[in-house]
Amino acid sequence: MILGQPDRDGSRPTLALVIERRILAYPQRPLAVRPPDPRAAVVAARVDAMIRSRRPDLEVVHIGSSAVPDLPGKGVVDLGIHPASRADVAAIEQLLLELGFARMRGPAAFPNSRPLLIGGLEEDGETLPIHLHVIPDPGEWARQLTFRDELRRDPDLRARYTALKHQLVEVAPSSLQYSLSKTAFIRGVLEEAGAAEPSVPSGGTIGILGGGQLGRMLALAARPLGYRIAILDPDPNCPAAALADEQIVAAYDDTAAAARLASLSDVVTYELEHVSLGAARAVDELRPIRPSAFALAMTQDRISERRFLEGLGIPVAPWREVRSLAALVAGVEALGTPLRLKVAIGGYDGRRQVRITGATTAERNASVQAAWAALASAALADGLVLEREVAFRDEVSVVVVTDLGGRQAAFPAARNVHDEGILIESVAPAPGPRTIGTAATAIAKRIATALDAVGVVTVEMFAMPDGSLLVNELAPRVHNSGHLTIEACRTSQFEQHVRAICGLPLGSMAPTAAGAAMVNLLGTGRDRPARLLGLEQAMRDPGVSVHVYGKRRVFERRKMGHVTVVSERLGDAMDRARAAAAHLTWAD
Ligand code: AMP
Repeated sequence: MILGQPDRDGSRPTLALVIERRILAYPQRPLAVRPPDPRAAVVAARVDAMIRSRRPDLEVVHIGSSAVPDLPGKGVVDLGIHPASRADVAAIEQLLLELGFARMRGPAAFPNSRPLLIGGLEEDGETLPIHLHVIPDPGEWARQLTFRDELRRDPDLRARYTALKHQLVEVAPSSLQYSLSKTAFIRGVLEEAGAAEPSVPSGGTIGILGGGQLGRMLALAARPLGYRIAILDPDPNCPAAALADEQIVAAYDDTAAAARLASLSDVVTYELEHVSLGAARAVDELRPIRPSAFALAMTQDRISERRFLEGLGIPVAPWREVRSLAALVAGVEALGTPLRLKVAIGGYDGRRQVRITGATTAERNASVQAAWAALASAALADGLVLEREVAFRDEVSVVVVTDLGGRQAAFPAARNVHDEGILIESVAPAPGPRTIGTAATAIAKRIATALDAVGVVTVEMFAMPDGSLLVNELAPRVHNSGHLTIEACRTSQFEQHVRAICGLPLGSMAPTAAGAAMVNLLGTGRDRPARLLGLEQAMRDPGVSVHVYGKRRVFERRKMGHVTVVSERLGDAMDRARAAAAHLTWAD
């Protein structure tokens, strides 16, 4: 149809009607690195014309790889609109939907205030896929253009980027994963070009979703750099409260409160995975949340976490998703006992996790029934993971940090001992063959890259007797097994996290001694006011560092504090840490 020509019935179609028929559904294509396609520029110009015909004030700019002649890519035409004001985003999104663009389904990598719409346009016999980004943040907009222009300018950069794309497409399970895995590279390029995201200046405020001991130790690391701390926690007396300049007393799923925290902060992080995704997304609308809301979404649900890992080709224990008794019975049949049945969302420290065992069919049936009785409601709400219990030789974890420029560094792998699911001891470097630590570190770095997580990510793994590793759990945050880094490394996991999320360079991770051991101080007995006894005796060994989290109440197995010893001999460090911890008890 020719624009503006009368229709057969004589009426003059409006421009909008003509245009509405032209944006097609997003053509799903297999992820591949395709040669540069000159049709992309034609598509970009046509979309620009369409949008200008409705909104002459808007310009559609060709961004991304397809805007760079000579650069292969996944064949998606990336376009961007930079609205003059944030208030205009909703109207622009509405216009795009009217033109035939659609919202992306699946895990969202961007907040609603920075929408990504998808569509297709036919050009020369083929429908080309389009990503249309609406980017209100002037900083982000400038970074998009800088990256494109650096690629246009520098053939060597194009060659390196092309090589990375070929490498990633081999391993990335999805287009989203592929895109996220490139982010570290892009960040590095922007930094080189002097266009990195700005750092948070000293005096700025770090918001923390959660005010437990991890938040407290983050605050302890942030204060010497001059940062202010704002926390959100339902408990006014939570461990981080004493260190916080501002506290919002609210539940972890209170999105309005999370938005208030964001408005008080320059950057926001989280110290526990059971912060609701809604709260993280509410922050994401207003301030950078690091690690990203996407990293939280991937890791707070064991089912999505397992899928994410499998998608990356990283081994996990054989498992099944369980949402019904029938699925549980079938899973037990398929996997054999012993098994672990775990809630997909919200279980931690071994809570809400049951074993399924039984040598005989009758015993096994009884165990299945008991497990189902314990977790049926969780199964129906969020699903369960049924997983083979593996006969590991050791449990190891790696804490890896990624800075805003995409650089990564990992602390030495730790070996951890759990008791009924709760961590009781860690030593680092993990004893045993060095190859295991090296392999564990490589896995952890790959995962952190795929999560596009700025800040600390912890990966817990099972080291099997044959030397292989199975990943058990991911945490996009500082971790109990990294507490010993406070004394054992020049820069602790907490300070590294603060540096990373604030856009500062990472610190030295040089070890301060050959090894370190940490023993957790767990609560004992009934719920009562917490009063620690034995501090003097514990500290008679001058090499003992005691950390008490300031929890007002103690109860059985509650994490109350920890003890660390560094030493030139690992065995010595552990003996002394245990001896000190044995002195520390809670008054009745
Ligand atoms: P999780 O909450 O999944 O980290 O589990 C807590 C602890 O339970 C782990 O650190 C292990 O000690 C143990 N555990 C969990 N899953 C398994 C499994 N599949 N095989 C053996 N031990 C497990």
